Amino acid sequence: MTRFVDVSNMVRWTAGRGPETIISEMMQYLEDDFRRWESFDKTPRVASHTPFGVIELMPTSDQETYGFKYVNGHPSNPARGFQTVTAFGVLSDVHNGYPTFLAEMTVLTALRTAATSGMVAKKLARPDARIMAMIGTGTQSEFQALAFRAALGINSVRIWDTDPAAMEKFVRNMAPLGFEITIAGSAAHAVEGADVVTTCTADKANATILTADQVSPGVHINAIGGDCPGKTELDAAILGLGDVFVEYDPQTRIEGEIQQMSADFPVTEFWQVLAGHAPGRTSRDQITIFDSVGFAIEDFSALRYLRDAVEGSEFFEEIDLVANPDDPKDLFGLVRELSPIGS
Ligand code: NAD
Repeated sequence: MTRFVDVSNMVRWTAGRGPETIISEMMQYLEDDFRRWESFDKTPRVASHTPFGVIELMPTSDQETYGFKYVNGHPSNPARGFQTVTAFGVLSDVHNGYPTFLAEMTVLTALRTAATSGMVAKKLARPDARIMAMIGTGTQSEFQALAFRAALGINSVRIWDTDPAAMEKFVRNMAPLGFEITIAGSAAHAVEGADVVTTCTADKANATILTADQVSPGVHINAIGGDCPGKTELDAAILGLGDVFVEYDPQTRIEGEIQQMSADFPVTEFWQVLAGHAPGRTSRDQITIFDSVGFAIEDFSALRYLRDAVEGSEFFEEIDLVANPDDPKDLFGLVRELSPIGS
């Protein structure tokens, strides 16, 4: 049997355990997996692009467990009543290839993207960072705010979105959790005096959410929205102002902000910082840029964490996903047993 966490269990478990606690705990799983980066199979995700958006498969394996996520990205979806991003994912045993764990990953992706941003910011942002600007207050935004509070203690958020209703929704969700929120009148206004800037907008375009003149010394930019060919958020000049950190270089060259730069533009894979092979932040005034697109190992860590966290709880069910004849060569026998032809 395969363990399955559906949407209802995922939501009940997240609400009960608390998203901020989950993000903190998930950061540890992410760090553990990033530290053993070299032991994973890695490949840029397999993407099917259409004028509507993209559908992607994100596989990886540590030779004991295989995982993949199915995820879509459709920036025009909210206007039609659908979400921009939805997902589900699987873990399997490498020794026999059987899927052991299946989970909804729309909620889990928001938690894992936030946990990844938090893990990276812990190393790259100034430890005394106190104010975050959030450009784009859609689906990911609340999870992002919780991650920065969990990672750095940031409680003060300046928000900007072109959709006023999205900003109202952010305030409604986050003010009761103790965040000090300022609604800005523009992206420039939001980033004024911010120590950390998160860009999480969705538009299938080379947008310029942030320009170079808006970036102050010492700031950490957490750029998560540009994650597809032809879909970026930062003025290319910003990338030359600081040091750029990525998840998996071959995938980010295709999908990240650095698709705007030459093929030899220098970047650092973040695992190298965690492993002590490369420097992270080296001075107070350094500008650090996390050019995040989301990588398969993060989904693997998130699934591994969820699988362990719900073990022995009421938040999963066993489903009959894999046909399992008594004689492994007699699959047909399963059908014959119930078939009127055989009787
Ligand atoms: P969403 O559609 O729910 O929210 C996006 C928000 O951006 C909307 O509220 C929209 O009004 C706003 N927006 C669009 N253009 C803007 C602009 N020019 N200025 C200010 N606000 C603007 O999408 P989401 O699920 O929150 O995802 C946001 C982005 O993050 C998407 O592009 C998605 O693909 C990406 N994403 C990345 C990762 C990762 O790992 N890096 C993970 C999940 C999602």
